[in-house]
Amino acid sequence: MKVPFLSFAPMNSAIRTQAIAEFQSFFDEQWYVLGSRVERFEEAFAAFCQTNQCIGVANGLDALIVALKTLNIGPGDEVIVPTNTYIATWLAVSYVGATPIPVEPNSETYNIDVTKIARAITSKTKAIMPVHLYGQAAEMQAIMAIADANNLFVIEDNAQAQGAVSGSQNTGSIGHINATSFYPGKNLGAFGDAGAITTNDIALAKNARIIRNYGSEKKYYNEVLGINSRLDELQAGLLSLKLPHLAQWNNQRQAVANFYTEHLQGVGDVITPITAPGCSHVYHLYVIRSQKRDFLQKHLTDAGVGTLIHYPIPPHLQEAYEFLGYKEGNFPIAEELAATSLSLPIYPGITAEQQAYVVATIKAFFS
Ligand SMILES: *Cc1c(COP(=O)(O)O)cnc(C)c1O
Repeated sequence: MKVPFLSFAPMNSAIRTQAIAEFQSFFDEQWYVLGSRVERFEEAFAAFCQTNQCIGVANGLDALIVALKTLNIGPGDEVIVPTNTYIATWLAVSYVGATPIPVEPNSETYNIDVTKIARAITSKTKAIMPVHLYGQAAEMQAIMAIADANNLFVIEDNAQAQGAVSGSQNTGSIGHINATSFYPGKNLGAFGDAGAITTNDIALAKNARIIRNYGSEKKYYNEVLGINSRLDELQAGLLSLKLPHLAQWNNQRQAVANFYTEHLQGVGDVITPITAPGCSHVYHLYVIRSQKRDFLQKHLTDAGVGTLIHYPIPPHLQEAYEFLGYKEGNFPIAEELAATSLSLPIYPGITAEQQAYVVATIKAFFS
């Protein structure tokens, strides 16, 4: 049996007929940039997140960058980021000229440890940028309370968790201005790069809209130094077809996760995912841990099961971040996660037989 790490086929077949019709009308209408498809998707995604504003951009990294620029964060400013995240979170902060200030994760949920945020705050801190990592909502109530008490902005990196809930609020609706990614492999994936900003703040939304489009509201009149980062019309049209399926697809991911979690209890030294109280998990990734991770991965690969490591090197140890001067041992929890984490196949449409085969293959390795 073969179990790919990810297959788009089941999701694609759910929208195939509509997607081809959508491409035909897009082709015939000949309107390519910032048209009705982007507007329609922005409205639908805002409704999905329960925000009143959504601004489509070219990708998730740009969504973070535009959010930071909208808040006027730049050189001399500090932004608190998780040590345990995809490098995009840090890169956005670096690109606007600010400094990422890393905070270790909770060793059970792998999301930013809210008890360690306060001590990272200095007079230069402007914002906290929590990540809903692997699809689990971060502990937003605690984060918003810290931000309020210290007069900081919160920017959610919601790239991995569209549809998750923290407390009673949807991810992407809690921070002051929030970013997401529709990279093909994300829970809501486009057919290429795409991203969005969500916010309930009308003034911030207005500025973000200007910044994504050359800093211009009226064509050829530029008010601020913007960038070109617009959501593509075709991607917006296709995303609008996928969005109505997202809640159900997330449910399917949760069912797969429940199966894995139930059947991997007590298997070798495997640690299955743990969610914080009040924080839902939409399982963009299903990440287990084992001290024998590399051998286990090889065993799964040899048996035809695709796995990936998220992420093998934490941002503070990446060559690109050498200039910040961090060394191995500076953030031991993130480093331990990098050394032991393994992501198992999870996607809507993965069959019961495939799930059982993944479990059986892991059990065989430890027996
Ligand atoms: C994917 C991702 C991004 C960046 O999104 P792109 O669309 O690839 O630019 C940012 N943050 C996190 C946590 C991500 O997983």
